[in-house]
Amino acid sequence: LDNTSTPYYAEVIHVLKNTFRLPSFRRNQLEAINATLDGKDVFVLMPTGGGKSLCYQLPAVCKSGRTQGVTFVISPLVALITDQVASLREKNINVDCMSSLRSADDSRDVMRRLRSHQKPDICYITPEKLRESNAMQEILAALYEYKQIARFVIDEAHVIQSWGRDFRDAYAELHMLRDRYPDVPIMALTATANKTAIQDIHARLGLRNPVCLVQSFNRPNLYYAVQPKPTTKKKAVQAIAGFIKSQHAADTGIVYGFSKAECEELAEQLRKDYGLSAKHYHAGMEPQERSTTQEEWQCGRCKIIVATIAFGMGIDKPDVRFVIHSTLPKSMDGYYQETGRAGRDGEPADCILYYAYKDVVSRLHMINSDRNDKGPPRTPEEKKRQIEDIRAVAQYCRNEVDCRRSMILAHFNERFDAHLCPKGCDNCSKGGMIVRQQYTSEAQQAIRLFEQMTASMDRVPVGHFKDVFAGRNKAKVRDSGHDQLSLFGVGKSVDGDRIIGVMMDTDIFMIAREASASGWTNDYLKLGSQADACLSGDLAVELTFRNNGAGNGS
Ligand code: ADP
Repeated sequence: LDNTSTPYYAEVIHVLKNTFRLPSFRRNQLEAINATLDGKDVFVLMPTGGGKSLCYQLPAVCKSGRTQGVTFVISPLVALITDQVASLREKNINVDCMSSLRSADDSRDVMRRLRSHQKPDICYITPEKLRESNAMQEILAALYEYKQIARFVIDEAHVIQSWGRDFRDAYAELHMLRDRYPDVPIMALTATANKTAIQDIHARLGLRNPVCLVQSFNRPNLYYAVQPKPTTKKKAVQAIAGFIKSQHAADTGIVYGFSKAECEELAEQLRKDYGLSAKHYHAGMEPQERSTTQEEWQCGRCKIIVATIAFGMGIDKPDVRFVIHSTLPKSMDGYYQETGRAGRDGEPADCILYYAYKDVVSRLHMINSDRNDKGPPRTPEEKKRQIEDIRAVAQYCRNEVDCRRSMILAHFNERFDAHLCPKGCDNCSKGGMIVRQQYTSEAQQAIRLFEQMTASMDRVPVGHFKDVFAGRNKAKVRDSGHDQLSLFGVGKSVDGDRIIGVMMDTDIFMIAREASASGWTNDYLKLGSQADACLSGDLAVELTFRNNGAGNGS
């Protein structure tokens, strides 16, 4: 059936133009709206900024659907609820919300309206409120009896997955909606889910033959690149400022940093040392200061926001021309969301990630030590997952040959043909043929050399090891006597730094971090869990590169 020949079409178009004042639908919106008006279960997977809200807000005000009454929207983020309620009220839509932020009186008012003849068309509610309020359950039961619940909408449906980072207890119990109110259609929406996750969400909500609207996550107008991060802070800032000044002098952008302190420092340097219009933004700021900063950026008075990942939820600025990560994102998922804030207007935008292996070590160290973290300590499963997430990011960064877009989309189980990228990422721009070369015997010799060195040195700094492996004639090397070892310089004729990099990625080597009494941290090389597998030849060490040019040689 054609999407425009449904019994709802006339009303749907009328509401789109007159209430929402939008000229046309985006991809999958009309399909989702038709399906829910038809009384079907719907699952919508759409990238952030794709326009998920319209999929349930618009049918909520339509009278021609098969189900009548209130559309209940279960949403985990109070801030997002508040924004949406305000913007719906501006459109004169009858909307209410129930969250922990509202007073008992407010909640009673909402419930009174739900019982009255002036019911809202949409009622937002947090999952906790839904679970905890008996009065609310009674109202739902009564509305259900009189067929006055049009649909349940589960926004951010990925939150239901128990292994997910955003997991919320109360989401796990949402199956009760289907159990108690079996005739009410459900619409679930999310921006993050791969194939297994989708099935999991369907099962946990008890969706029945849902109409699945899953759309490509590809953002064709975004250019992805990874740059080696300079070793000193000063040079790292210089690199970022240089990039902005040469490519985006007058543009709006976001720079993501590691910590609150780092964001403040970086913003100040960009301002003072490079004359850029930059401000910091993080969760530690006063709410007033935070919203002022966001507004200044939103209206273009401030061009660059230097932020922790606290910045972004609900950000909707169309003309963001660059997103720079001055350090690793927490996961590929996070990277996709954060870079997804660039180029929403469809015009080209750059996503640059500055990578240093040291940042991987810092992040792993933080996960394992529970440092720098609010809230309860991580469970062992959480740790494991977060470590996997960081490793996936590191792998993405170290990969100097494969199409970045393909790697990102593969993360969402989406196959993307790199030929379609052509110059949409740094790796595809290099051209040339991909070559893989084995360096297993060099890796084995590196391990043996390391063992020789540890006979006379307790803790081998990474840089020192690289020097000895490459046979560099440095004072420190001579002083240690390591230039006398039989395997000194055994990696002379190969790209030792990169081979050692791959060995660290694959757990043949690892870095141990120690804090000294004076507060400095020192990194030492250690053998990792895969060292034996490498020595026995069970684990190959391979470098991959493009045959026409040099890699970035980090
Ligand atoms: P999501 O929840 O998927 O991240 P939103 O629902 O917040 O996305 O929508 C993102 C932006 O796109 C909003 O500014 C919204 O007004 C706009 N938008 C949604 N649908 C359309 C449309 N059909 N035409 C134009 N703009 C739209």
